[in-house]
Amino acid sequence: MHELSIAMNIVEIVEEHAGTYEINSVSDVEIDVGRMSGVVIDALRFALEEAVKSSVMESAKISINEIPAKSRCLACSHEFEPDDIIAVCPECGHLYADIISGKELKIRKIRYEE
Ligand SMILES: [Zn+2]
Repeated sequence: MHELSIAMNIVEIVEEHAGTYEINSVSDVEIDVGRMSGVVIDALRFALEEAVKSSVMESAKISINEIPAKSRCLACSHEFEPDDIIAVCPECGHLYADIISGKELKIRKIRYEE
Protein backbone atom coordinates (compact mmCIF):
# COMPACT_ATOMS: atom_id res chain seq x y z
CA MET A 1 0.00 0.00 0.00
CA HIS A 2 1.32 3.35 -1.15
CA GLU A 3 -0.06 5.29 1.83
CA LEU A 4 1.52 2.95 4.37
CA SER A 5 5.01 3.65 3.07
CA ILE A 6 4.25 7.37 3.15
CA ALA A 7 2.96 7.07 6.72
CA MET A 8 6.09 5.20 7.77
CA ASN A 9 8.18 7.82 6.08
CA ILE A 10 6.41 10.60 7.98
CA VAL A 11 6.97 8.79 11.30
CA GLU A 12 10.63 8.31 10.40
CA ILE A 13 11.09 12.02 9.70
CA VAL A 14 9.36 13.00 12.95
CA GLU A 15 11.42 10.49 14.94
CA GLU A 16 14.60 11.80 13.41
CA HIS A 17 13.57 15.35 14.20
CA ALA A 18 12.63 14.46 17.78
CA GLY A 19 15.89 12.56 18.18
CA THR A 20 17.87 15.65 17.27
CA TYR A 21 16.30 17.47 20.22
CA GLU A 22 16.23 14.40 22.47
CA ILE A 23 12.46 14.49 22.74
CA ASN A 24 10.51 11.36 23.66
CA SER A 25 7.01 12.42 22.84
CA VAL A 26 5.39 14.52 20.15
CA SER A 27 2.03 16.14 20.90
CA ASP A 28 0.90 17.42 17.50
CA VAL A 29 1.82 16.78 13.91
CA GLU A 30 0.32 18.69 11.04
CA ILE A 31 0.62 17.35 7.52
CA ASP A 32 -0.20 19.05 4.22
CA VAL A 33 -1.49 16.80 1.48
CA GLY A 34 -2.25 18.28 -1.92
CA ARG A 35 -5.35 17.16 -3.75
CA MET A 36 -3.17 16.24 -6.72
CA SER A 37 -0.46 14.48 -4.76
CA GLY A 38 -2.03 11.10 -5.48
CA VAL A 39 -2.40 10.38 -1.77
CA VAL A 40 -5.78 9.27 -0.47
CA ILE A 41 -6.20 11.16 2.79
CA ASP A 42 -8.45 8.58 4.47
CA ALA A 43 -6.01 5.83 3.58
CA LEU A 44 -3.12 7.90 4.90
CA ARG A 45 -4.97 8.58 8.15
CA PHE A 46 -5.62 4.87 8.54
CA ALA A 47 -2.02 3.96 7.72
CA LEU A 48 -0.73 6.52 10.22
CA GLU A 49 -2.73 4.87 13.00
CA GLU A 50 -0.62 1.76 12.42
CA ALA A 51 2.66 3.50 11.66
CA VAL A 52 2.74 5.61 14.85
CA LYS A 53 2.58 2.60 17.16
CA SER A 54 5.53 2.55 19.57
CA SER A 55 7.02 5.65 17.97
CA VAL A 56 7.38 9.17 19.40
CA MET A 57 4.13 9.95 17.58
CA GLU A 58 2.09 7.30 19.35
CA SER A 59 -0.01 9.76 21.34
CA ALA A 60 0.31 12.70 18.97
CA LYS A 61 -2.71 14.44 17.53
CA ILE A 62 -2.36 14.25 13.78
CA SER A 63 -4.04 16.80 11.57
CA ILE A 64 -4.06 16.46 7.84
CA ASN A 65 -4.72 19.56 5.74
CA GLU A 66 -6.03 18.98 2.28
CA ILE A 67 -4.49 21.55 -0.05
CA PRO A 68 -6.68 22.36 -3.04
CA ALA A 69 -5.20 22.18 -6.50
CA LYS A 70 -4.43 25.41 -8.31
CA SER A 71 -3.26 25.96 -11.85
CA ARG A 72 -2.03 29.03 -13.68
CA CYS A 73 -2.75 29.35 -17.38
CA LEU A 74 0.41 29.68 -19.45
CA ALA A 75 -1.33 31.95 -21.95
CA CYS A 76 -3.27 34.45 -19.83
CA SER A 77 -1.96 33.77 -16.29
CA HIS A 78 -5.46 33.18 -15.01
CA GLU A 79 -5.44 31.05 -11.84
CA PHE A 80 -8.08 28.38 -11.42
CA GLU A 81 -8.81 25.09 -9.75
CA PRO A 82 -8.37 22.22 -12.21
CA ASP A 83 -10.47 19.07 -11.92
CA ASP A 84 -7.81 16.97 -13.55
CA ILE A 85 -4.11 16.88 -14.41
CA ILE A 86 -5.03 18.19 -17.86
CA ALA A 87 -6.88 21.43 -17.29
CA VAL A 88 -8.35 23.82 -19.79
CA CYS A 89 -8.27 27.48 -18.80
CA PRO A 90 -11.84 28.67 -18.11
CA GLU A 91 -10.85 32.20 -19.20
CA CYS A 92 -9.25 31.67 -22.60
CA GLY A 93 -9.58 27.95 -23.34
CA HIS A 94 -5.82 27.41 -23.46
CA LEU A 95 -4.85 23.82 -22.73
CA TYR A 96 -1.55 24.34 -20.95
CA ALA A 97 -1.38 25.38 -17.36
CA ASP A 98 1.20 25.02 -14.64
CA ILE A 99 0.13 23.34 -11.46
CA ILE A 100 1.12 25.85 -8.81
CA SER A 101 -0.25 24.03 -5.79
CA GLY A 102 -1.94 20.79 -4.89
CA LYS A 103 1.01 18.42 -5.27
CA GLU A 104 2.47 18.97 -1.82
CA LEU A 105 3.05 16.25 0.69
CA LYS A 106 4.89 17.63 3.65
CA ILE A 107 5.02 17.91 7.38
CA ARG A 108 4.00 21.44 8.19
CA LYS A 109 4.34 21.43 11.94
CA ILE A 110 5.68 19.25 14.72
CA ARG A 111 4.83 20.21 18.29
CA TYR A 112 6.46 18.64 21.31
CA GLU A 113 5.09 18.10 24.75
CA GLU A 114 6.26 20.67 27.27
ZN1 LIG B 1 -5.97 31.32 -20.00
